[in-house]
Amino acid sequence: MKLLLLPPKPAVPSPRPSPRRLSRRRTIPSMASLSTHHHPLAERPLRYAVLGAGFAGLSVAWHLLRHSSEKLHLKIDIYDESGIGGGASGIAGGLLHPYSPKVRLLWRGAECWKECLKLLKIAERVVDKRNSNYHNVQLDWNLCESIIRRRGILRPAMDAKHLDILTNNAQNCLPSCKIESIDKDAAEALVPNIQVPFNSVFHMPEAVNIHPLCYLQALFLACQDLAEKNSTSSFGGKELFMHKKSIDRLCDFEGEYDAVIVCLGAKADLLPELSGRLPLRTCRGVIAHLQLPDNAGETYPDHGPSILSDAWLAVQGPRDILVGSTWEWKSRNYSSVVSAEEASTALEQLLPKASAIYPKIKDWSFVGAKAGIRAMPPLTSFGSLPVLGRIDDLVVGNHSCKYWFFGGLGARGLLYHGLLGKLMAQAVLFNDETLLPVELTSWKK
Ligand SMILES: Cc1cc2nc3c(=O)[nH]c(=O)nc-3n(C[C@H](O)[C@H](O)[C@H](O)COP(=O)(O)OP(=O)(O)OC[C@H]3O[C@@H](n4cnc5c(N)ncnc54)[C@H](O)[C@@H]3O)c2cc1C
Repeated sequence: MKLLLLPPKPAVPSPRPSPRRLSRRRTIPSMASLSTHHHPLAERPLRYAVLGAGFAGLSVAWHLLRHSSEKLHLKIDIYDESGIGGGASGIAGGLLHPYSPKVRLLWRGAECWKECLKLLKIAERVVDKRNSNYHNVQLDWNLCESIIRRRGILRPAMDAKHLDILTNNAQNCLPSCKIESIDKDAAEALVPNIQVPFNSVFHMPEAVNIHPLCYLQALFLACQDLAEKNSTSSFGGKELFMHKKSIDRLCDFEGEYDAVIVCLGAKADLLPELSGRLPLRTCRGVIAHLQLPDNAGETYPDHGPSILSDAWLAVQGPRDILVGSTWEWKSRNYSSVVSAEEASTALEQLLPKASAIYPKIKDWSFVGAKAGIRAMPPLTSFGSLPVLGRIDDLVVGNHSCKYWFFGGLGARGLLYHGLLGKLMAQAVLFNDETLLPVELTSWKK
């Protein structure tokens, strides 16, 4: 189906490239240089399409609005066939910290952590503002629900070798996301009845567990607020539109937009232009939702941290826990719906792992399951890094429109989306791929 969204427009020159060519480790242009950056045809809007409203797409949209000059007339259309959080982002466990499962600091972990916390703050502020002004707005979720569900994550050591590795890695933790080694008694004070096989648990008190859908909805509202705030600018103005629409082909956007940023998660590979050309593998994950029946068993402590082990427990409330996740490689099942059979298989895998660390889970009842597909990137010497970059050569056409790709967020989309959304927005605004870290664009070679 051909997308005919707007009347044809004359070609619009792209934003001035960054004056500074960057060597291996790229430097981001200063905010000052971005804010003085001026589009030569300010009366004509610059049009960007962001495909996908998950962590990647909404982060890019936010940063495009945030980092474009106030003199720039910018129009952003976000497309998603299922609406906000319709893919993996909306069903994710919501666990956020800058470490690998062996608590090793991940690639550019400090910056990723900082940028993600910034976005979380922005989203929380929107919720607070709307809550205090609840007569004026209608939201799709209960305003009493908070974005951050729990603070703190526990990572128990499972054997002697594991303990050595964790102890070693934890020494390089960030001051802003500490890893404390605590003993069995201290761990039990946080979560009664937790199993501590080697009398040592690694506690990340600043790590968080969020409600991804609440977060994404709030981030979208923050984008709307930012666009609205700038809509009356005497120079340019910002416009933001959300379209619930399925995208069939990238070439349909040619002539309609100055840039298209593809943030379609695992489904990007279904587009004819990208099919088989991205270095990504699919991996379906099922998450089980468990609740403690009324008046039964021992509730999870009010401030008890979540747990990361062979299975993870993302605590939602004293009687509410998500247990994840399974790993089904090469799955082509993109549905978030989990059949009774798939749920039962997932529980057979997850419950023994969960009860090895929190035996009381046996008192909890299964109430539902959801699933999503991770787009898994290749393993590099820096770890499994997302894949970003210009993809014009994959799309047939005269390329008055620039095509960009932002995907492969793997199992760590929350951590990566803030920093990489910012870098992607800057690369798009300056029309300069060298602003992206070479580690993330080298997949194209
Ligand atoms: C079970 C599971 C648990 C996870 N837990 C965590 C966790 O605890 N912490 C963490 O950091 N990460 C977690 N992840 C990983 C995280 O969910 C992903 O890395 C992240 O969601 C990827 O974001 P994205 O924006 O790239 O893709 P998506 O969230 O999949 O967004 C893509 C969007 O594009 C839309 N779309 C796709 N195709 C089309 C089309 N043709 N037309 C229109 N729209 C389209 C989709 O509807 C979707 O909304 C988990 C993943 C899974 C599967």
